[in-house]
Parts: sequence; C-alpha cells; structure tokens
Amino acid sequence: MPTYDFRCSECGHKFTIFVAISEKDKVKCPACGQGKVEQLFTGCSVRTGGGGGGCDLPATGGGFGGG
Ligand SMILES: [Zn+2]
Repeated sequence: MPTYDFRCSECGHKFTIFVAISEKDKVKCPACGQGKVEQLFTGCSVRTGGGGGGCDLPATGGGFGGG
C-alpha cells in the first residue's frame, strides 16, 4: 500500500497514512482533527548546493517541534 506523509498546518503534527489519491483531499489531522493538512513529498533526495529548489523538507533537526 502506498503511503503518504502529511503535516498539519494547525498543530504541526506529522503523520503517515495510506489513502487513495481521490481521498487525499479528505485527510484530516489525527491529532487535532483539522483538515488543514499539507502533503509532504519524500521523493526528494537531491542535495545540490544552491538552494531555491523544490525541496521543502527539513534536512536534519528542523525547527518544528510538534509536541
Ligand atoms: Zn493538527
């Protein structure tokens, strides 16, 4: 089963679930129940020094501390 990573825009909670593509718009945060979640694309492994790429993932030790 393909899984998708999401992050809640409300509480910053990150979670992984498996859901059909047509159902991704209905994904809600399991922590706070809000539907304001954004999908995280983990297919980015390119690290060419430069910046301004399409990678929006934190490298290591991000600032987001979702309790
Ligand atoms: Zn949340």
